[in-house]
Amino acid sequence: MPTILLDIDGVLADFEGAVRRTCAEVGHDLAAVTVHNFTDNLPALVYAHYVGASTQFGWCSAIEPYVGAYAFVADLRTLGDVVAVTAPLIHCPTWESERRAWLLKHVGIRDVVSTRRKDLVWGDVLVEDNEDNLRAWHARWRRDSYGILVRHTYNTSADWPTCVPARDFNALYEAVRRAVG
Ligand SMILES: [Mg+2]
Repeated sequence: MPTILLDIDGVLADFEGAVRRTCAEVGHDLAAVTVHNFTDNLPALVYAHYVGASTQFGWCSAIEPYVGAYAFVADLRTLGDVVAVTAPLIHCPTWESERRAWLLKHVGIRDVVSTRRKDLVWGDVLVEDNEDNLRAWHARWRRDSYGILVRHTYNTSADWPTCVPARDFNALYEAVRRAVG
């Protein structure tokens, strides 16, 4: 059975939306995001608020799933083993336990690998919104791997052969099906 690796933030979870809400708490309107690590570019006071808020228990849990994420993951299970591969927010001490509970609650995923080094995890396909992660993963597993990039405003210039717009779970399911078929 194929192993399907799923990044979570930007694929199933609206991390950007959660940051946007947090910025709004201090009156900052987050502009269209143009880089993947966009939180590094927040104004100093807004960044301090974001770090303070996202360190607290409950911030990770409150990230909203994209509409249709649960059904998408259920459909993926007809194609293979679905494993979440998700990088923890290192300044948040409760991130991993909250993320694990989130995955079970919102998309029914129990198998979770928590790491920034996604290239270390073997699978038949990796779905990601971070081009650098896709390149590192594909470079390591080249012969057997198939990477799918989820398009956002922060990776529109990425030159990757298989791209699917964010939140378009029908297109994403078809791309995974072709990858493992
Ligand atoms: Mg991501």
